[in-house]
Amino acid sequence: MPLKSLEDLASFCKRRGFAFQGSEIYGGLKGFWDLGPLGVELMKNIRETWWRSMVYERDDIDGMEAALISNRKAWQYSGHEGGFSDPLVECKKCHIRMRQDNMKDQTKCDACNSTDLTAPRDFKLMMGLAVGAVTDGEINAYLRPETATTTFINFKNVLDSASRKIPFGLVQIGKAFRNEITPRNFVFRMREFEQAELQYFVHPSEGMKWYEYWKAERRKWWVSLGIPAEKLREQEHEQLSHYAKAAFDLQYEFAGLGFEEVEGLHHRQDYDLGSHTKNQKDFNIQAKVMENKDSTAKLSYSDPQTGETYIPFVIEMAMGTHRCMAAVLDNAYTEEDLGEGNSRVVLKLKPTLSPIKAAVIPLARNVPELLTLAEKIHGELKALGLGRTVIENSGNIGKNYRRHDEIGTPVCVTVDHQSLEDGTVTIRHRDTMKQERVKADDIPDIVRKLIK
Ligand code: ATP
Repeated sequence: MPLKSLEDLASFCKRRGFAFQGSEIYGGLKGFWDLGPLGVELMKNIRETWWRSMVYERDDIDGMEAALISNRKAWQYSGHEGGFSDPLVECKKCHIRMRQDNMKDQTKCDACNSTDLTAPRDFKLMMGLAVGAVTDGEINAYLRPETATTTFINFKNVLDSASRKIPFGLVQIGKAFRNEITPRNFVFRMREFEQAELQYFVHPSEGMKWYEYWKAERRKWWVSLGIPAEKLREQEHEQLSHYAKAAFDLQYEFAGLGFEEVEGLHHRQDYDLGSHTKNQKDFNIQAKVMENKDSTAKLSYSDPQTGETYIPFVIEMAMGTHRCMAAVLDNAYTEEDLGEGNSRVVLKLKPTLSPIKAAVIPLARNVPELLTLAEKIHGELKALGLGRTVIENSGNIGKNYRRHDEIGTPVCVTVDHQSLEDGTVTIRHRDTMKQERVKADDIPDIVRKLIK
């Protein structure tokens, strides 16, 4: 049985230590979530899987990490300061505020069904800050609402230092902040979240080719996480943003919510590098950009073979890692009927994503030799560097198995009295619950193969 809703997922995440409402002991703060001991491991594994596929397994992409706060001008010329807003509607009867394009019925209040609503107004999504000692609290900067702009403004730095040839890409994983009107659905819509974004720079004549290429690549990556293809859907945008030539959302079918965006792919033409370029008239910029009076750099590329100088087009992939985490958990969560009135919850995560890779369990608490052997095996597993492994010395083997099923640990290794006699241990597999007797010395190799 799968989950029924994202609220159920939130309860599960709290119970097991994946995620907690931010500032919970002070009544919480809407739109902010904290990751617990298991959530932080799962998130790290998601980031690593993404980074490996983007950077380590390719030759054409570099990583970078920009500051969360940039010169305000970056957000002026990117168009965010003037235009990054959502349409806000308020119910005149119950006074709740809603994002118009997310309302169930645009003529009625989501909460009380009243039709007495205000006209929509643009609600600015960027969070303002006062940076420095001279401002007296007046907003002069913003927390970034995306990582993309902070990649674009470093284009020239990377090009000059890394000697890249077009096509090439730049990735970042980092926090983004948006003053969402209605944060909801667990980590699906937050005010502080994390993005993993690729900006891929191409020759203008090859924009659509690379757009199609990345569409297929990204779908493959999501399937590689263990998400069945039928739970993913592509939704091409019918109404395009002013900068986009083509765009689509990759959607996942969340419990109780249906298909919703987990990643956006945008063909952004030369809008971004063009917007941040000085002497824009030197280039035949195709997107509609604001005249730039402040930039000190031309974000262009000169082809060493053809001598052509141009502003590259950008194909962008923007994934929310929290939405990815929610999708992965939602997909993995399974309630199994074991017959005779027994059931279990099992988190069928790919072992690469599991927060805990293996648990070593001495069968009896009060036998020091069992603990010593368990600690030896645990030490060998830690030395593999695969991620977190644990030793469970709480006694009840059945409870330990159930707990590790529920948090997605792929295998448990049990050390018992026979282990002391013949050097064998029991390895129990999460998904099948099958148990086999193997040599204790073989455990590191077995676990390494399973996780890799
Ligand atoms: P939406 O239409 O849902 O508001 P968006 O189209 O504005 O999303 P993008 O700006 O394309 O989203 O951001 C890229 C990705 O960042 C999204 O696909 C999503 O996974 C993630 N993301 C965006 N906003 C949020 C949010 N408020 N909370 C969590 N993740 C988010």
